[in-house]
Amino acid sequence: MREFVYASHPARIVFGSGRVAQVAAEVERLGLGRVLVLATDAQKDTAQAVADLLGPLCADTFAGAVMHTPVAVTEQAMDVVSAGRIDGIVAVGGGSTIGLGKAIALRTDLPQIVIPTTYAGSEVTSIIGETADGIKRTQTTPRVLPEVVIYDADLTLGLPTGLSVTSGINAIAHAVEALYAKDGNPIIDMMATEGIRAIASSLPSIVENPGDAAARTEAQYGAWLCGTCLGAVGMSLHHKLCHTLGGTFDLPHAETHTVVLPHALHYNAPAVPRAMAALARALGRQDPARALYDLAASLGAPLSLRDLGMPASGIDEAADLALANAYWNPRPLEREAIRDCIAAAWEGLPPGT
Ligand code: NAD
Repeated sequence: MREFVYASHPARIVFGSGRVAQVAAEVERLGLGRVLVLATDAQKDTAQAVADLLGPLCADTFAGAVMHTPVAVTEQAMDVVSAGRIDGIVAVGGGSTIGLGKAIALRTDLPQIVIPTTYAGSEVTSIIGETADGIKRTQTTPRVLPEVVIYDADLTLGLPTGLSVTSGINAIAHAVEALYAKDGNPIIDMMATEGIRAIASSLPSIVENPGDAAARTEAQYGAWLCGTCLGAVGMSLHHKLCHTLGGTFDLPHAETHTVVLPHALHYNAPAVPRAMAALARALGRQDPARALYDLAASLGAPLSLRDLGMPASGIDEAADLALANAYWNPRPLEREAIRDCIAAAWEGLPPGT
């Protein structure tokens, strides 16, 4: 048994179909009485439904969250927080809405109850990325960690199929990199393999029938486990590449993770035999990188960075940027091999071709 350090985050997890009905009780349990409900404009009806459940405990709603947590939007929300004498946050939505809640918590230390509706996993991490003047900066601080997470798969039934698939594979990416993290440990390995199994086995049923409540519940359980992995250990090449590609070429978050993952895993494979064996067991295939590519293809997910809008001229730039700021990776960073991976991802070829 290897030596390890394991630190768990102190969040309270409430899991199950219909559990959103418990939101008022959770607000009262935290001793709050004037919460602000956050959402995107697209989910304002969901925000209103949560506000209705909260009744007089809800002081206001703010349905202005957008991707990448722009500071300008946070400042608008902060005005509402001040004017409404808000004493807590209820964020209902995906990583974008949760990011806004974290940005408010960063400035105020207000308690947060999060009701996730995608599989991105931000609700169980102490990571926050904020964008100002076109640059996204990420920091890790326990100040932004939500106090309570309510996982109610009923709220994911309307998540469009395409986003369900890419969001699910985004979650799998957290667990894949956790399996070979420098600061990994056996507890996180268990969560990672179980999370990958749960998501990979439920996505085909979700694509076949988006209203399959059992499959949605299984995927959300997997998303919690995979998000916990992201929050617990360091990420490497895959996350670095996606962050760089997303920021440099303005590519969509979950789709970029979906396209890059098989290639980043193929690159690291020779250096991480233990992780590859665990992935082979979780995915039921001998070649996990190819298995992830085939999973995405079979579910109709995007396979190429070209289709996401990246220009061919960006391949070399991305390879240079991937090596720009030194970071730990299980396999040393080799420019030409990384360039080959990005080129294969750009073309949408299977990993290793
Ligand atoms: P998102 O939150 O941007 O949601 C995408 C769109 O889908 C939005 O319009 C949203 O309103 C809509 N939507 C969400 N759930 C829905 C549902 N159930 N039904 C119908 N529509 C729904 O997407 P995301 O992938 O969850 O989040 C991406 C963002 O989260 C990125 O900015 C990323 O950097 C961040 N993120 C942060 C962390 C972290 O730990 N800090 C982790 C993962 C992702």
